[in-house]
Amino acid sequence: MSLIIHNTLTGKEEEFVPIEPGKVRIYVCGVTTYDVNHVGHGRSLIVFDMIRRYLRYLGYEVKFVRNFTDVDDKIINRAKNECVPFTVISDRYIKSYFEDAENFKIEPADIEPRVTTHIPDIIDLIKKLVEKGYAYEVEGDVYFSVRKFKDYGKLSKRSIDELLAGARVEPGDKKKDPLDFALWKAAKAGEPSWDSPWGKGRPGWHTECTAMIFKHLGETIDIHGGGLDLTFPHHENELAQAEAITEKPFAKYWIHNGLVTVNGQKMSKSLGNYITLKEIYSKYHPDILRLLVLSVHYRSPLDFSWEKLEETKKAYERLKNAIEEYEILEKLPINPDFEDDLYEDIAKAEQSFYRAMSEDFNTPEALASLFGLVREMNILKDKAVKEGGISSKALKSYKEAADTIYNIARDIFGFFDSLKPCIEVEEIKNIEKEKSFIDEELIQLLIDIRNKARKDKNFQLADYIRDSLKEKGIILEDTPVGTKWKKEL
Ligand SMILES: [Zn+2]
Ligand SMILES: [Zn+2]
Repeated sequence: MSLIIHNTLTGKEEEFVPIEPGKVRIYVCGVTTYDVNHVGHGRSLIVFDMIRRYLRYLGYEVKFVRNFTDVDDKIINRAKNECVPFTVISDRYIKSYFEDAENFKIEPADIEPRVTTHIPDIIDLIKKLVEKGYAYEVEGDVYFSVRKFKDYGKLSKRSIDELLAGARVEPGDKKKDPLDFALWKAAKAGEPSWDSPWGKGRPGWHTECTAMIFKHLGETIDIHGGGLDLTFPHHENELAQAEAITEKPFAKYWIHNGLVTVNGQKMSKSLGNYITLKEIYSKYHPDILRLLVLSVHYRSPLDFSWEKLEETKKAYERLKNAIEEYEILEKLPINPDFEDDLYEDIAKAEQSFYRAMSEDFNTPEALASLFGLVREMNILKDKAVKEGGISSKALKSYKEAADTIYNIARDIFGFFDSLKPCIEVEEIKNIEKEKSFIDEELIQLLIDIRNKARKDKNFQLADYIRDSLKEKGIILEDTPVGTKWKKEL
């Protein structure tokens, strides 16, 4: 089955053919480390984690690079406000980023370069652009001449006229043309700076990604990814710098994930609807955000709300229960006359899962195939419980269905134990501590007392025990093979 990718560069669905057979080189723009990550960052992380896992599932050897913008106006401003060196700010939020990534089981990139450790590479790139006549210096600043690069606008599909209408010249800009953008900024008092052929200064934002890609992945890569909002100007500028130098395509496929709104509104601190990843995983199992993100196609807008997360939690539990309830079936007596098994449903679900994934990573349809199989599993289970027995063939097929869902969901969607979550945030530690004070023997004793109460028809006491345990996050389930308990997610 060939993989189809929607390529922003061509605006079309295209068959994925890597530059080098069997290998995929992918670069995704990372975060600017001046604050904690919000749900918008989370979506981009989860989407590209899924894409990477799926490419690997298809058998590709994937080299994945994601950078940190660890010097930037926003970082410098925050450092000034807190009266600390800018490195204190970027180190703090890089650490915070890794906490988030580990909790959401985002696999670390193969290389996670920082701007501040790539200054010589960035200077080299700017030097080449100056030599080729695509860049010019004015009083220690270096600018890219947009009009010199004939293909400018081809990624974001903008004409020079449209660009001119939107171009702004900020006070202090020394560029010759409002369309031009800064590659190197002359040092200002009290700001971090590095030596360069144009005097002390620091790189502009767009230059770092091109330089890091050249250094770690080469002049042409297979996939360049990022949020939709990065298409212009950031990716357009990355492309212009790269292709001006190499005269070769910079990236074969450009993939952009859609943006996140909260309750229908753009997320912003002033609106007070700024949802951080830490808030989400202090309240919900991280898989539930993964499931919410993957239940929407990666290119569509995603509207976040706590209600949706709560609904998604129910869907996640349905998936998990279907896998775990094999235990119930296992304890039923064998009935060779039991008709029905799941083999055909498994084959169908797998087929439609991979077909959906190969059509531009259509995760909502892929999930629908898994949930379709869950539905069939539940029908079979209910029937077996009702009839009080199951054939060994049907039992084996249930186990196979459970394993199929578990493996796919773990390996491609990153659920379950695909990476052990590390929970370092203080509040979460406390939640975990409370949860860990569960005395299993004591719960079993309460279950026994409740069963005795039920036998004695003291349903008031039985319900009281069940409800009290529920308040403590312990869910009791009466099954044909006895009462089971589990921790609430
Ligand atoms: Zn398309
Ligand atoms: Zn970038």
